[in-house]
Amino acid sequence: MNSPTTPPSPQSFLIQNYRRQDVSFVRGDGCYLYDDAGRRYLDAFAGVAVCTLGHAHPKLVEALSRQVATLIHTSNHFEQLGQEELAARIVPEAFAGRMLFCNSGTEANEAAYKLVRLWGNVAHEGRKRRIISFEGGFHGRTLGALSITHTPSYRTPFEPLPSTDFVPFGDVDALAAAMGDDVAGVFIEPIQGESGVHVAPPGFLTRVRELCTRHRALLVVDEIQTGLGRTGRMFCHQHEGITPDVMTLAKGLGGGVPIGAVLATEPVAALLKPGLHGTTFGGNPLACAAGLTVMKEVTSSGFLGNVVERGHQLLEGLRRIFGPTHELRGMGLLVGVQLQREPSELVKAARAEGLVVGVAGHNTLRIAPSLIITAAQVDELLEKLAAAHRAQR
Ligand SMILES: *Cc1c(COP(=O)(O)O)cnc(C)c1O
Repeated sequence: MNSPTTPPSPQSFLIQNYRRQDVSFVRGDGCYLYDDAGRRYLDAFAGVAVCTLGHAHPKLVEALSRQVATLIHTSNHFEQLGQEELAARIVPEAFAGRMLFCNSGTEANEAAYKLVRLWGNVAHEGRKRRIISFEGGFHGRTLGALSITHTPSYRTPFEPLPSTDFVPFGDVDALAAAMGDDVAGVFIEPIQGESGVHVAPPGFLTRVRELCTRHRALLVVDEIQTGLGRTGRMFCHQHEGITPDVMTLAKGLGGGVPIGAVLATEPVAALLKPGLHGTTFGGNPLACAAGLTVMKEVTSSGFLGNVVERGHQLLEGLRRIFGPTHELRGMGLLVGVQLQREPSELVKAARAEGLVVGVAGHNTLRIAPSLIITAAQVDELLEKLAAAHRAQR
């Protein structure tokens, strides 16, 4: 995603807050992207695990074109049939509760954070105020979501932030020691994506659930990157068979159209009374048409099976390319390769081979293609990555 070497353009009117790869994509088709010179790339990043159905998917094109020509936006001052329809598709795949729609991942976590506050302040008369999240976690860039995000370089320049107790990811004893009846909520990613695709150790989410239940703290599972089929189940926490109190979604939900969402169990959802929270754009008809199309496809027969199979194919191929010296982490089509050095050279070499890959923290190569990727395209991905790996060794 970010190449640290791109110099800021002196002619740009943009704030230079992104380190961008030196390429402009102007068109996409399925799992392929085309740059402004007409070169074709296999896209193994999907816009940070966003383009669930690839680019220009015919069903998404049809649904969005129809919605654009019908009605884009009315605001949350009016009934929202699209939100009702989308929630009715998501809730049965997750757990019993109610949904709120917003525009991004960080906003979904802000809404979840406010639910946690209401849980402590209203449901427990202010007796629960402590918030716990995990070292290595990433929950977004707005101030509430940033306060539960661990990475010091993201947080420190923006302090003071609401206080959070950070616990080492995967450390049950540390969590047990940090927990108490004054904890309102625990925020966790089932797989820490941004920090380098770190999968929660088996059994960890179960123990987190138990501790939250014992102390009546809300368990907020951030499935913004891992949800919507990315790991081979509809939601990643389902691999462990736990039920959160609150779940946040975004990235893959709109297939590229900005949308975020929160699902909360009924008693938690009931705390959010009219006037306490809201958004102008959240869940507008266009965004919901996108979400609905993605949900229909992801729940269609064989879709998740493809994610599981392509995920195995990808891991096996990566094992052949990188050998036993590089740790491979991930599930389904969210995979990290632990490199020994900064990934930007490999990312650049891959681009020269016609392959787009991403990076994550701690020198991790991040591979997160569209979920519609075929077996032949995974082979192509592996060939191109192998060539890039050879080229830069
Ligand atoms: C990307 C991400 C976010 C933030 O989402 P934005 O849409 O960029 O605000 C939050 N949590 C996780 C786990 C993410 O991967």
